Amino acid sequence: MKNIFGYKYNDLENKLIQINEKKYKTRQIYEWLYIHNEYDFNKMTNLSKATINNLKANFTSDFIKIKKVQTSDNASKYLFELKCGSYIEAVLMKHDYGNSLCVSSQVGCNIGCSFCASGKLLKVRNLESYEMVQQILLVEKEAGLRVSSVVIMGIGEPFDNYDNVMDFIRIINHPYGLAIGARHITISTCGIIPKIKDFIEENIQVNLAVSLHAPNNELRSKLMKINEVYNLSDLINTIRQYIEKTNRRVTIEYVMLEYINDNKKEALELAKLLRGMNVYVNLIPYNETHDGEYKKSSPKRIKEFYDYLKKAGINVTIRKEFGSNIDAACGQLRASEVEE
Ligand code: SAH
Repeated sequence: MKNIFGYKYNDLENKLIQINEKKYKTRQIYEWLYIHNEYDFNKMTNLSKATINNLKANFTSDFIKIKKVQTSDNASKYLFELKCGSYIEAVLMKHDYGNSLCVSSQVGCNIGCSFCASGKLLKVRNLESYEMVQQILLVEKEAGLRVSSVVIMGIGEPFDNYDNVMDFIRIINHPYGLAIGARHITISTCGIIPKIKDFIEENIQVNLAVSLHAPNNELRSKLMKINEVYNLSDLINTIRQYIEKTNRRVTIEYVMLEYINDNKKEALELAKLLRGMNVYVNLIPYNETHDGEYKKSSPKRIKEFYDYLKKAGINVTIRKEFGSNIDAACGQLRASEVEE
């Protein structure tokens, strides 16, 4: 039996037909779950007793659990326990324009970028779409607010869990449910080329961010071993195809590692690589992880790097730092230890 929070609208329609219910009830159920936050089938008062029993017999509706919440000024980190006993994390960030949630897509991660804490815990499994949906629902309930944008940048590589992530996006995007606009959803990938190609065909306005982190193969392979499989020039070509076919701007993520990839040389090389492309570069101040292998670039070096790109005509921003004091910043999520 599948969890009801894992059903896309159309799939729920089909499932209801299959269990001899009327298709229109899909909307009622979606509204209960996502608008009225009523998760108990017994309390869905516009459904008949027979339908309620039918739902109970055909769907589960159990939840992942919040295990711990840590809050700093502008961010809260949520540790969740899954039914299987594994842990994942999500981070809520409060901006002037609304609340955004960074969700996890896998338990652990197999990409193994050398600077990232998430990959220190190897992938245990993919998250089911309902486990991603429930991260949003539980945070909204606990924090008493609406999540207005979602970034799929927590633990895991979303394109290594493509189908469940796409279902998740379609569930939270549906107008009769959470109705989180596609333009308010961002998926971040380390650059799994075949999946970027699939994503081009999805015909959805979700934002794409690609973790580049280096402007040449030699350095990129040192930082991200996935570069050995999908190299930089193929990746750039794929990004070009994406832009051409979707007409959408791509975010290029570039984590600032002191004296590693933050020198003038890399700035100029990056500018050359991206020249003329409809992209913007997001410089991410590195959040130092516990093993201390890399240092964060000084604000001065970040600003210099920024200026080199700007001068070369590249759109560039420096990412605002969130929650680094609660280990909630990018790349610090790992959820391996509950007791600290
Ligand atoms: N697997 C996806 C999502 C990863 S997390 C991806 O690779 O894009 C989102 C971003 O944070 C990625 O660009 C990732 O490389 C970056 N990141 C990882 N560790 C970091 C750290 N310690 N400090 C800052 N950014 C980090």
